[in-house]
Parts: sequence; C-alpha cells; structure tokens
Amino acid sequence: MYCGAKTPDGTPCTAKPMVGKLRCYKHGGASTGAKTAEGRKRQSEGAKARWVEIKQALAMARSMGQDNNGARI
Ligand SMILES: [Zn+2]
Repeated sequence: MYCGAKTPDGTPCTAKPMVGKLRCYKHGGASTGAKTAEGRKRQSEGAKARWVEIKQALAMARSMGQDNNGARI
C-alpha cells in the first residue's frame, strides 16, 4: 500500500504511509503543521498573541526611555 497523494508531476506518491496513517511523511502523515481550518486558526491566534506580547514589551521599553536593545522579551 502506498501513500497515493498526487505529486507535482501528476503521478501518485509511491512512498510508504506513516504507521497508522494514510499518507507518507511528506503528504500529511507526519504532524508538520496545522492542516485543518481550526488548527490553522489556533496557530495564527497563537502567533498573534506572541506579537502582542512582543509589542507590549517594546512599548514598555520605549516608555522607560530605552531602545529595543534594552528590551527584555
Ligand atoms: Zn506521499
């Protein structure tokens, strides 16, 4: 049994699927990232939250009269 995912040249992938999965590691067998809409949303919200934290830290550093080099993030 093969992965069978369509490759860029139009042929099915002939790699072996990951254990317990339908696709090989290149085609979603490995958890390399969020594939569902919900997962992507969660991922982007996490990234946004980190940006907010970074911006707050920078703003705090500026308000204390320091430049970015002085920010402790
Ligand atoms: Zn594959």
